Amino acid sequence: MPEYETIIYDVLTPGIVKIIQNRPFARNALDLQMTYDLNSAFDRAAQDDEIKVIILTGSDPHFSAGHDLRGDGGKKLQEDFSVVGTWTGFENDGAHGRFAREREIYLDMTRRWRDLPKPTIAQVSGKCIAGGLMLAWACDIIIASEDAMFQDPVVVMGVCGVEFFMHPWELGPRKAKEFLFTAEWWTAAEGYRLGMVNHVVPREEIEDFTLTLAKKIAEKPLFALKMTKKAVNQTLDTMGQQIAIDSVFGLHQLCHSHNEKIYGIPIDPAGIPQTDKKDKRSN
Ligand code: ZN
Repeated sequence: MPEYETIIYDVLTPGIVKIIQNRPFARNALDLQMTYDLNSAFDRAAQDDEIKVIILTGSDPHFSAGHDLRGDGGKKLQEDFSVVGTWTGFENDGAHGRFAREREIYLDMTRRWRDLPKPTIAQVSGKCIAGGLMLAWACDIIIASEDAMFQDPVVVMGVCGVEFFMHPWELGPRKAKEFLFTAEWWTAAEGYRLGMVNHVVPREEIEDFTLTLAKKIAEKPLFALKMTKKAVNQTLDTMGQQIAIDSVFGLHQLCHSHNEKIYGIPIDPAGIPQTDKKDKRSN
């Protein structure tokens, strides 16, 4: 079985696996290692016929702080991991390398997880920020605890939302604009009201609630579950979701190029938290 540095792969009960993001010292921010650890764990769960439902969560207290702007101190390069796409050329200068890198680890990877054939449940407590939203949105069902808070603040970094642009699909167009324009924190209750969150439960009950739901799903035949998930995702794709996300990814890259020209880095430095100023290659 593979070893993971940054996640825990925990088979809770026959048919159900919980994948736990485990970088609590970084509020579970997603670095390269965790991106590829998650991908490996998702593949393992997808390829194991004994697994029918995948729960994704974060080690307490937060689900995800998004992409780790501090990077990993340059210890590992993209080429140190098993690349999933064919674009490559990550170390090229300018837009070339950045496009390749962001496409691999943000756009293509998130789509890959969104298209996992088995039902996935995001169990969200605490903060879920920017790239963390991409993770939750890639899942089929979102269960949030009452203390969960959601935010995409990248407009203050000079960028038009995170790379996997699901906001209008998750929130509706008007609320998506407000969410992005203001960069404010929204509650689990608001996420529920808008249809982004399936259920809001007390924090002390979220483990049991999510497992009970997962068990109900796991009782169903696997092929029918796979086909049902595909039917819904295929409907969204027919509505243009995939093409819309791809096209907005181009705007996102234009924002990075603009910031690079103006500030010498791909994001507006005014939006970088003080603690995150060591590595500013991407967001
Ligand atoms: Zn970006």
